[in-house]
Amino acid sequence: MESIGIIGAGQMGSGIAQAVAAAGHEVFLLDRDATIAEKAKAGVGKRLQRLVEKEKLSQADADAALGRITPTAEYAPLGTCGFIIEAATEDEQIKRAIFDAAGKVLGAGAILASNTSSIPITRMAAGVPDPASFIGLHFFNPVPVMKLVEVIPGLATAAETTSRTRAFAESLGKEVVLSEDEPGFVVNRILLPMINEAVFVLGSGTAGVADIDKGCRLGLNHPMGPLELADFIGLDTCLEIVRVLFEGTGDSKYRPAPLLVKYVEAGWLGRKSGKGFYDYSGGEPVPTR
Ligand code: NAD
Repeated sequence: MESIGIIGAGQMGSGIAQAVAAAGHEVFLLDRDATIAEKAKAGVGKRLQRLVEKEKLSQADADAALGRITPTAEYAPLGTCGFIIEAATEDEQIKRAIFDAAGKVLGAGAILASNTSSIPITRMAAGVPDPASFIGLHFFNPVPVMKLVEVIPGLATAAETTSRTRAFAESLGKEVVLSEDEPGFVVNRILLPMINEAVFVLGSGTAGVADIDKGCRLGLNHPMGPLELADFIGLDTCLEIVRVLFEGTGDSKYRPAPLLVKYVEAGWLGRKSGKGFYDYSGGEPVPTR
């Protein structure tokens, strides 16, 4: 088992840390402040404990997995890692500064991967010390539960980097879909236009929030309606990805729904802000339209 570095200990980084540690790897979980990384580790501990309570994991395996995670704010320990996975805030400047710092400690033969949802891999690769060992590795939320990982080689990524990344993802028990480096990769390219269209349908008054979601749950057999899912992802994140599709393709079919822009401008960002297409302030979510 090799050591794995994870940079960014938010929603995704902590989920990736849990999945990687559960698969038996040592993990260095880095954030800009060690207390953030420590809190993320505590969160992983709570989630593992819930699995023990549900009898899905033994106490010994939970303790061992948690013991393999070392929170840090230092790059030096990442020098021993075979893989470094960047899962920090979706901001190109932040990511570039991280690649700069990680590049200085990256061991020979190590792979640097980004979990970005929307920033082109080829463009970011141009700023890393070795573009041949740089790749996109896109997990889905919540990482310990979701089976899929997209692997996205950039123009300069070496074939060996791609095959090692694929094998690594599979070693975590994930299924891999290989995607060219195109806006939205595969899944978001399909999902976000559907969510955006649902907001157009809402904005034009064709149906209300509850009926749009009910229609897709019962008519398409989707586990969640598009508006519930948008609230779960975060409306700001949805808007950001739609903008990337629009700008990256130049195709007007991807223009953001005006109502989606309005909700984001109002600070109605979905579950994380307490209100999006549903209001979560009471017990049951209540549709806002
Ligand atoms: P988040 O806001 O929950 O976490 C981001 C973390 O990065 C925070 O802990 C923050 O402190 C840290 N960070 C910021 N600047 C840093 C720096 N300079 N050095 C180290 N750490 C720093 O965000 P998230 O939802 O976990 O998303 C992280 C990445 O994963 C983004 O690229 C996003 O596009 C991608 N992603 C998100 C989802 C999702 O559903 N949320 C799904 C797939 C991929």
